[in-house]
Amino acid sequence: LPEQEAFDIEYWLLEEAKLQRMPAPKSMAGRVALVTGGAGGIGAATAERYLREGACVMLADIDDAALAETFEGLSAKFSTDVVRTVNMNVTDESAVASAYSDIVAEFGGVDILVSNAGIASSAPIQETSLDLWNKNMSILSTGYFLVSREAFKLFKVQDMGGAIVFVASKNGLAASPNASAYCTAKASEIHLARCLALEGASMGVRVNVVNPDAVLKGSKIWQGEWLDQRADTYGTDKDGLEEMYRDRSMLKRSVLPEDIAEAAYFLASDLSAKSTGNIINVDAGNKEAFTR
Ligand code: NAD
Repeated sequence: LPEQEAFDIEYWLLEEAKLQRMPAPKSMAGRVALVTGGAGGIGAATAERYLREGACVMLADIDDAALAETFEGLSAKFSTDVVRTVNMNVTDESAVASAYSDIVAEFGGVDILVSNAGIASSAPIQETSLDLWNKNMSILSTGYFLVSREAFKLFKVQDMGGAIVFVASKNGLAASPNASAYCTAKASEIHLARCLALEGASMGVRVNVVNPDAVLKGSKIWQGEWLDQRADTYGTDKDGLEEMYRDRSMLKRSVLPEDIAEAAYFLASDLSAKSTGNIINVDAGNKEAFTR
């Protein structure tokens, strides 16, 4: 090779190598996400996943102490510029509207909603009080409606599309013993997501669902009454329960908050640009679904 040409080739190789060493561009850079139940296990893990991809995140929750703790952890890892918190009860119409005003004031808009705030509380049907039924319905069903409605209002004004991810539950598709209120509320979330996918399509708004199986690690749900309420069916030994869920999965693995966050990342990012009205079950492979 003539001397000059050889030099050009080496220079080109150097540039290629440099490119390969450069970190991949952050796929959510400039996006803004509102994560309800953001102080909890799955919500906080999802917020962290989005922050890693360059998003700004507003954590909305009713638990101020947990919000402060999650904020401290995430802002230390990323920056105080990209994380905010708001006390918002998803059942309170005006609190939801005011949280959206806050996020617009802080970050200039919203691109992604993760509707995740939730509880799990149930009983055999003959012992299910109207209060217990309404509690499940108001937080899970009505709460998901209220936060989605505000997101739709904003998405319409912004005219830039948007992505909504519902964290529902495999119990929204499959019946679970002594949990009719929870299962019915979760089923309504899934159907709401499908209706909203249909309504949002012409606006470029995608709405999808992640259905976790039991996520025991980091979840306040499994530290509360849910475990006791299900003692007759599953016992109260949390480690034993984790083992039971692991064993009954095809992959023989526990489902972690980070696994749900990964699906919520896929569904909120451009990786799933052609998906709407769909469900991802994150259950390590549910044998029951195959043997029924
Ligand atoms: P978690 O209790 O750790 O987190 C839920 C968060 O929601 C909490 O921080 C709580 O304070 C908040 N919250 C509750 N009521 C609220 C309200 N009215 N307004 C605003 N925030 C409220 O539980 P998690 O396991 O992270 O659950 C997150 C979601 O995943 C829930 O919707 C739950 O039903 C669903 N899910 C969980 C599991 C599981 O096994 N952990 C399985 C299937 C589905």
